[in-house]
Amino acid sequence: MNKVEINDTTLRDGEQAAGVAFTVEEKVAIAELMDAIGIQEIEVGIPAMGLDEAVAISRIAALGLRAKVLGWNRAVRSDIQASIACGLKRVHISIPVSQIQIAAKFQGNCRLVLDKLRDAISFAVDHGLFVAFGGEDSSRADEAFLLDVANSAVSWGASRFRFCDTVGILDPVTTGEKVAKLVKSLPVPVEMHTHNDFGLATANALAGVRAGATSVNTTVNGLGERAGNAATEEIIMAVKRLYGMEVGIDTTRLRELSQLVATASGCAVPPWKAIVGENAFAHESGIHAHGVLQNPVTYEPFAPEEVGRERRLVVGKHSGGHLLSNLLQQYGINLTREETQSVLGAVRVMSVQYKRSLTIEELLNLVTHRRVAHGIG
Ligand code: MN
Repeated sequence: MNKVEINDTTLRDGEQAAGVAFTVEEKVAIAELMDAIGIQEIEVGIPAMGLDEAVAISRIAALGLRAKVLGWNRAVRSDIQASIACGLKRVHISIPVSQIQIAAKFQGNCRLVLDKLRDAISFAVDHGLFVAFGGEDSSRADEAFLLDVANSAVSWGASRFRFCDTVGILDPVTTGEKVAKLVKSLPVPVEMHTHNDFGLATANALAGVRAGATSVNTTVNGLGERAGNAATEEIIMAVKRLYGMEVGIDTTRLRELSQLVATASGCAVPPWKAIVGENAFAHESGIHAHGVLQNPVTYEPFAPEEVGRERRLVVGKHSGGHLLSNLLQQYGINLTREETQSVLGAVRVMSVQYKRSLTIEELLNLVTHRRVAHGIG
């Protein structure tokens, strides 16, 4: 497989999530952290929005980051001019390519779509910009028309093609087939942009990678329009761990990046979220905890430290004696078999009552009280 680069769009598509709005300082801080951990490219926003958005983009463009900095544009000259005014050297130019979108936005006039695209790309190229072309709603486009538009864009000067599953309606097999045809026919790199409406954003992006795409447009925590986008941390770890590819990114800071975006977006990360969720490396059930205590590989795909996490063994409704004894031994407490069973029973009652696992303090209190009650120790 070819080397894959991350083009993170948390600051553009991520911010388009309903109700999310970053401050200038937040956008700059997120871009700086992404750059520090080695993310190769950052889609920083939409210059044509002006005001604070343009201020943030200008500030990021002026930071001199190692990461390539890209602005999102419609296929209109004023958008490109706004990107230039922000100091950007790279522009992404997007235009709809499906009949559904072209009918709604351009009265079904495909000729108009091509004319606008040619004008915008030519304008950007004439101003010395790197141009990436994005086919909005590529997944629902007529395949022959899509290839035609993409090849035309390349002939006008576009240096990359973004395949957008704008409404997230593909499955990995179909994605692979569609992307393979484009990779074979286009003389420029193909980038994946996938949405999570059926929970398949990451899977579809990976299918694109397997079919030859070399760039993935992702968002931290999967933040984005509707059900979100392919998550940056998931793509990075999947490419690294499932495909064994060198990603060139410091994965030990993925948790930190996730927390920064969660705070700035006001969107908490669900506990079960892959890689960065609170429970991603937590073990409560007896069978799993026992296995992990013998050898973590039994129930962990990779070590939590690799993504800046720690393993957590927690006592709750599904815990068994082995985990309980192990935890208590760390505090110098050795229970008899009977005591262990009795404490486990109490743990179950409390977990159901509290709707969570117990903290270590609660567990220690429980043990102390029961021992006092039974006149032991
Ligand atoms: Mn999108």
